[in-house]
Amino acid sequence: MAEEPCQCPDCQRFYKEHDRLIREFPTFKQQQELNWASIQSFRTLCTKISDELQKEFSERASNEDISTEEKSISDTEITEALDDLENVNAYLYSIEALMERIFDIKIPNNIESKFKEIANELAPDPLNMDRLILNRLFHQTPDSPDKKNIN
Ligand SMILES: [Zn+2]
Repeated sequence: MAEEPCQCPDCQRFYKEHDRLIREFPTFKQQQELNWASIQSFRTLCTKISDELQKEFSERASNEDISTEEKSISDTEITEALDDLENVNAYLYSIEALMERIFDIKIPNNIESKFKEIANELAPDPLNMDRLILNRLFHQTPDSPDKKNIN
């Protein structure tokens, strides 16, 4: 028997986001570009934050009289974050190398049409008319609090 997928708020947010990414980027090429941009933006941000933290840390080292109250981030927090970000950047670099391989692959147009077709089945538009009608039918049960809003 198949296990029911988890319905906690985090998982629900994940399913929603997962479906949105399929719906809004339904071709192989769009997924390539999306994932490439996503890795790059993550790396850009992590690298920039690392540089900033590094700068702040060296400024602190050369200026001993900054009081503890003036530090919104403690020295320990900075060094720990720098370690973590260094690891993250190394992982992202490896993912990027793999993404480059994926990026080199081209898919013919007739296969791209298949991607679009299947994407539409996997993640139909939640604002699509058929779906709205279906949702309405589901909510038309006698004890539904939504009932008074449906006419
Ligand atoms: Zn969950």
